[in-house]
Amino acid sequence: MKVFARRNRHARRKRWSNIVSKMLVLVLTVVFLMGAGLHPIDGDKAEGSGIQSWTEHMGDARDAEHLLDKRSHLSERESARIHTRSITDQFANAAVAAKESVPSSSKVVYLTFDDGPSKHTADVLDILKREKVKATFFVLGKQVKQNPELLKRIDAEGHAIGNHSYNHAYKKLYSDFRNFWQQIRDTGQAIKEVVGYEPRLVRAPGGTYLNFDKQYFQLLSQAGYIVHDWHVDSGDSKRANVPKSEIMKSIRAGARLPHTVVLMHDSAGHGETVKALPDMIQFYRDKGYTFDIMTPDLEPVQFKVATRKRWERKPVSQAWIDQHVQAVDVRGEKQPERQTEQRPEKRAEQQPQKHFDYQNESTMRFKATTEVGMLNLQPGQYKRIQQNTYIPARILTTHLDGEIIISDHSSPIELHFKQGTITVNRMTGAVVWQAGTNERERLAWKGIEEDGVLWIPLRPVLDTIDISLLKHEFIPLELGKIDA
Ligand SMILES: [Zn+2]
Repeated sequence: MKVFARRNRHARRKRWSNIVSKMLVLVLTVVFLMGAGLHPIDGDKAEGSGIQSWTEHMGDARDAEHLLDKRSHLSERESARIHTRSITDQFANAAVAAKESVPSSSKVVYLTFDDGPSKHTADVLDILKREKVKATFFVLGKQVKQNPELLKRIDAEGHAIGNHSYNHAYKKLYSDFRNFWQQIRDTGQAIKEVVGYEPRLVRAPGGTYLNFDKQYFQLLSQAGYIVHDWHVDSGDSKRANVPKSEIMKSIRAGARLPHTVVLMHDSAGHGETVKALPDMIQFYRDKGYTFDIMTPDLEPVQFKVATRKRWERKPVSQAWIDQHVQAVDVRGEKQPERQTEQRPEKRAEQQPQKHFDYQNESTMRFKATTEVGMLNLQPGQYKRIQQNTYIPARILTTHLDGEIIISDHSSPIELHFKQGTITVNRMTGAVVWQAGTNERERLAWKGIEEDGVLWIPLRPVLDTIDISLLKHEFIPLELGKIDA
């Protein structure tokens, strides 16, 4: 019986294979078009910049060269993807099936409030509570010190908290990474003192564009932080007291992606933002969106690194990095109470901007040697998440001579090995291990499903099935292939 079932699955997989190839091309095209707009034109107006109208942006002549950069980069990724297509087919099938049944309510908007908590935060929280909407607050350390009770309330009411530096002083933050690092650490500490954990989410004051260089991105990521910019700027900090009508105009003109991150402010002087909030919520509801908090498993929205420079600074030395940039003890599992609007399809359906982290993984191959052989992975075939290297479950299972079983797009995914079975819950990513007839055991790590690919962490999986990881290394691509 089981053999037949598997054969059927093989046949189905082949039929799907053609459709999936076509869809991949389509998806890549869309991703390319969207990614082309994914950085603001100018950061000079601090957070007032952000992404302008996407179409306007695409027409910007200065961007032509960036587009070319992206094109050459994408084709590199594309080849990596095509190379793994046969490997990911089965997951792609599942994603396609899931997508077909996803209603328009699968669109998610992430409302974010920066620079608080302040005297406006309580009003914001009242509105969010009344509307049953969850949001994310990127707070300043110095504001946390002044308003610890508000931070407690943010946390208690199920919103997410992110780190937005200590004092928001651009010159200090961007003239030297060491200052930025210190402020992030101090703010993390201040938050931890109030709510008991340090968040992993970080938003750069003014956004990353023209402020961050590759090293900023790299070191923060190395420490386990996840940096997020935004898709839609509400424009509420363009100048003092931007009126509600103007904020709503920016919102209406903003991009509406399947997953959209919106920038707002709840610091002093943003009473108009508070006034606009109910209309904004209604606007996104009317467009079929639900609301959610940002979590560490959401792939970061990041502007690309600017080719021109705003800040004069030197990279920090390896000695300083070795001494200071260790993995931070950040809590990555915060799961506040979920609102009722939360749809279960979320994990199966993913946003296109997931492919735009160019900072580090895109320039390195990953090579690992286990006691059963060697794994040689191209950019796109692995990802670093909180000190772990995740690779597609199918690649690792094949390497370990196991088998993946997916019955349909909602049932758990089973990874069968001769040592036992790993079962991954597709809603939560939670993982259970069972060896022979032993008791089922809940494992500490989670699976992450994206674009129909299940990603699992290499070392924890090997530990689970008792296979040694003998060696692993990241190898830079040939110089000519690295994008500018
Ligand atoms: Zn800010």
